[in-house]
Amino acid sequence: MERTDSFLDALNGVQLRAATHPPNSTLQILAGPGSGKTRVLTSRIAHLILNCHIPPAAICAVTFTNKAANEMRERLTKLLGKTQVAQLKMGTFHSLCARFLRKYSKLVDVPENFTVCDASESKKIVATHLKTFEKDLKAHNLEPGTVTSIISKAKAKRLSADGYLDDAKSKAHYRGPTGTESPPTPDIIVGEVYVLYEATLRQNNALDFDDLLVFGVKLFSGHHLTVGWCRHILVDEFQDTNVTQYDLMRAIANSVRCITIVGDPDQSIYGWRAAEVENLAKMKRDFPETVQIFLEENYRSTGAILEASLEIVSQDSKRIAKSLYTAHPDGIAPVLYQVNGEQEEASFIAIEVKRLVAQMGGAFKWGDFAILLRFNALSRTIENALQKEGIPCRILGGHKFFERLEVKDVLAYLQLLDNPAFVPALLRVINVPGRGIGEKTLADILQRAEKAQKSPLALLEGIFDMRVPDNKPSIRKKILSFIQAIRKLRKSAESGTGPSDLINELLDLVEYQDHLRKTQPDWETRWENVRELITFAKEVEEQSVRDNAALALNEDESSLNIEMSALRQFLQVSMLSSTGDNESEESNQEKVTITTCHSAKGLEWPVVIIPSVDATTYPFIRSEDEDEERRLLYVACTRAKSLLYLTRSTTRRVAGDTKSRALSKFIQTIMEKRAKENKIPLFIDHIPHLELENRAILCKVLERPEPDEAEVQRMVDAFTRQGREHPPGIPWTPPGQAQANAYSNWSYPQSFP
Ligand code: ATP
Ligand code: MG
Repeated sequence: MERTDSFLDALNGVQLRAATHPPNSTLQILAGPGSGKTRVLTSRIAHLILNCHIPPAAICAVTFTNKAANEMRERLTKLLGKTQVAQLKMGTFHSLCARFLRKYSKLVDVPENFTVCDASESKKIVATHLKTFEKDLKAHNLEPGTVTSIISKAKAKRLSADGYLDDAKSKAHYRGPTGTESPPTPDIIVGEVYVLYEATLRQNNALDFDDLLVFGVKLFSGHHLTVGWCRHILVDEFQDTNVTQYDLMRAIANSVRCITIVGDPDQSIYGWRAAEVENLAKMKRDFPETVQIFLEENYRSTGAILEASLEIVSQDSKRIAKSLYTAHPDGIAPVLYQVNGEQEEASFIAIEVKRLVAQMGGAFKWGDFAILLRFNALSRTIENALQKEGIPCRILGGHKFFERLEVKDVLAYLQLLDNPAFVPALLRVINVPGRGIGEKTLADILQRAEKAQKSPLALLEGIFDMRVPDNKPSIRKKILSFIQAIRKLRKSAESGTGPSDLINELLDLVEYQDHLRKTQPDWETRWENVRELITFAKEVEEQSVRDNAALALNEDESSLNIEMSALRQFLQVSMLSSTGDNESEESNQEKVTITTCHSAKGLEWPVVIIPSVDATTYPFIRSEDEDEERRLLYVACTRAKSLLYLTRSTTRRVAGDTKSRALSKFIQTIMEKRAKENKIPLFIDHIPHLELENRAILCKVLERPEPDEAEVQRMVDAFTRQGREHPPGIPWTPPGQAQANAYSNWSYPQSFP
């Protein structure tokens, strides 16, 4: 008989126990990085379907990013086939809620055509309302960004606008806005803005990202629809769920009480976004039958990388120590390379990537390298350096693509077709291309629309059709081309034209390329982005045809295969995507990845480079939680499989001024402690030479064939001919004799071609 569970062979004993734990149970799998948590979760899904015969449509799997969901989907497709995988309810908490809310919008009083409002639109709305408090603001220095993030945190804790305002007032013993009482506290201003912000969203038929979760909780906790649809819920990266996400999970799981979560408190790095590591304890309280399984073997990294990473995280005295070992060889010690100047640092990185590719004789490809940054602003110099060396790179995450002006313009036009009440979209495109509609006229239109309880777009159409009298007849002329375009597009959309064709039609109608040429110096690259958006729209159309075909074979009650117009589907996917998620994996293999430490969560690469390990970056000077900063560095280091580099510059230019920078104390502490104890330093301060023996170790760890000696020679010769040299490294200066001894005992070949 053919075995259906051969996928379980790829697990060790404890992993197997976790994956095959009885289905009717609540299970916490807790373990360090690289111990196979995600692998176990994936295998458990396959096990539940193949061996426990739970229908895939009744399994809900939550991942932290869309990219992680795609990876899991790919792995499962190999085991289960496309039809079964298409039925799984899999995605981030946000994308799952968005899909359910579309289908059951009526149950929670959300309009079916709601628009997902992104962070920058939220900020704009907040900024508008903050202006009302201009007088008080001077005293309090409240920025729109700060207020938006306070509101977001409140929503993550499920604190409503009214609730927030009441709290703020009672804290300030506020007696109402009458008379000459003391001016509102900052908290009260935030509360008032929160109330107004919520009203604006509702008026616009819009939900922000946090609302997706808030309304999701409402949907799942208040209605019978959920009973029975979900027979098991699985959550990856549980340590980073916030209160609302936890409530969501509990609401979905409540009737069946079958949950599997995997997580690692040491990798909790989203405290600033109101994630709650206490959720682990809460789950044990809410589900006392919870069983815990711990995994202890790391399969990802070499011994040296794991040891250095653990020394970083264990500096946290409050941390509960746990064991994590690897059967991999120690391999090459992590490198700490220090230079003087961030240009040197960037060029060191670029040259080193090239050198490693050459010395490995092609056993490393560009796609094997990741450069992990504490924040995005660090990427500019590094991108330039890579470009100078002709090394292709991609920027992963950060929502970059969908944040671009030209992409947002096009999406805003489409949003207006789908949801005419969505004012941010109207404001964005009413003067794109320029139509001479001034701010005053706009304000006037908005005011009149509000009075008439109409959407501003409907009011404009009324003026255009002369159903609404207008005291400034010139306005009719100005909106002529806009309303005509909207109407033509609306007609096309209604007759079933797909999003990619709609975009083409839009570009023609408003002569968008011409507009870009006239207004943007870099219009060519922007035009390329618009074309990329069309490609993306086509992909979404094709994917939804495939999904629908797979689901049509197996339609059941609980399917989320709802009748959603192709346009709406495209908008939803766009708003919930981030760039890297949408690139094909194939093209990524040929590029060095640049991303933030946060977005690198759950991922792995053969070589990881972490620039700027200085005192203001780790811990980040603006962060209040040093322990979380340390964990972040730990997460970054543990992404590496075979080689880890930390680099830093002793000086850095900040807004034009050169400032000196000390080494990050997380690293300094390790170095000093080891020196005092006369131990080998965990980091070496020169580049490792990849001679035969080291190449063999790297290939073994990566399970790759060793390169051909002649090929190595050829590539190294080619690299040498280019005459690239590293900027001189500044050794870490030992503070005392003990340290010097430690160094002298530690010999390492220094030469490189
Ligand atoms: P993180 O905490 O960083 O998310 P994780 O615990 O989820 O890590 P995985 O990503 O599942 O770990 O696994 C890390 C690596 O180890 C992957 O490349 C995976 O394929 C591999 N791996 C996991 N378990 C085994 C095993 N039993 N045998 C061989 N390789 C394994
Ligand atoms: Mg994982």
